[in-house]
Amino acid sequence: MTKRDRTLATHAGNHPKAHHGIVNPPVYHASTVLYDSVADMRARHKERFNTVYYGRYGTPTTFALEEAVAALEEADRAVAVPSGLGAVSGALLSFLGAGDHVLMVDSTYEPTRVFCDTQLRRFGIETTYYDPSVGAGIAALIRPNTKVVYLESPGSHTFEIQDVPAIAAAAHERDCVVILDNTWASPLFFKPYRHGVDVVVHAATKYIVGHSDVMMGIITMRDRFFTQVKTQVHGMGFAVGGDDCYLALRGLRTIGARLAQHQQTALTLANWLKGRPEVARVLHPALPEHPGHDLWKRDFLGSSGLFGVVFNPFDDARVAAMIDGMELFGLGFSWGGYESLMVPSSLGSARTATRWRQPGPTVRIHAGLEDPDDLIADLARGLDRLRGN
Ligand SMILES: *Cc1c(COP(=O)(O)O)cnc(C)c1O
Repeated sequence: MTKRDRTLATHAGNHPKAHHGIVNPPVYHASTVLYDSVADMRARHKERFNTVYYGRYGTPTTFALEEAVAALEEADRAVAVPSGLGAVSGALLSFLGAGDHVLMVDSTYEPTRVFCDTQLRRFGIETTYYDPSVGAGIAALIRPNTKVVYLESPGSHTFEIQDVPAIAAAAHERDCVVILDNTWASPLFFKPYRHGVDVVVHAATKYIVGHSDVMMGIITMRDRFFTQVKTQVHGMGFAVGGDDCYLALRGLRTIGARLAQHQQTALTLANWLKGRPEVARVLHPALPEHPGHDLWKRDFLGSSGLFGVVFNPFDDARVAAMIDGMELFGLGFSWGGYESLMVPSSLGSARTATRWRQPGPTVRIHAGLEDPDDLIADLARGLDRLRGN
């Protein structure tokens, strides 16, 4: 039977018959794994990426999470790592070595940029940043030593949508591996493998975990890249704990219901903000006036709870007063949990290939699972503070 997304999110990776009928997989705490014999030890070593071999390689708890995320994303395999940034660095280092070149989207998550500019540079790997709207024009930027084209769509502060199929097609023509950060959409709202992507990274910390209580990253991929990626991330010593895998899997079980609500509440807030005189623009791919809206509509299956608000010019102190006085919107990094958040965005410095100019201050909002009317009441009081009332 073909299983649709919410069914997969609910059941994929669960094998109750293997665990006395218990719905959820047990939490394995493991370092040492005992073998039956030397022959068994040797056989398991050959199969170490696909079996229980040593704690660092994963346990049935890890495998349950990986199986579920791979199924939901229509990937062949998944590898869990200790953070979203671990997924980014692990995926990049799986395909890059000294003398290689990577094309990185200019709107990328800032720590990804820092990783390229410091760690990759230190190992003799060169990064060129490209305009998120480059589309098929990426071909002109590919050099003989370009090994990876990296996308993030939308950017998590500026929300530009990329033409993923056009970029992937041009990249494949020159044998580049296409990596995409799919954290904003989650495996529910964008299906990267339908659009030519080879390897996907997630900050599972966000919507997969969904409860702001675990750091986790997941790399998903086509079969042909599995050994290369697993060799790299295992070789760097990346391993995740059983309790964290269990919590990530528990979060994943409700991602369908949660994201439906995040989507609806974010759209309610975005549309309300759009009509306010303090607001210059709302950065939300599902709004028809958003620059990448047509691409979003063509390729995405939904929109999540994270969006931006560009205000008309206001003093920094007024913006701080708005944010500091929020009752329901917390001030903090990360997002994807059940709670609403509001953070100031400082974007100008994080760009090199393109300019990001807006009329006034920008804040990023994560729409949580609170009652939308309460959130709007909180925002309305915040806008009073912004105006100085
Ligand atoms: C948060 C985030 C990451 C990093 O995830 P961590 O789990 O915080 O390391 C990577 N990419 C995007 C788009 C993110 O929002």
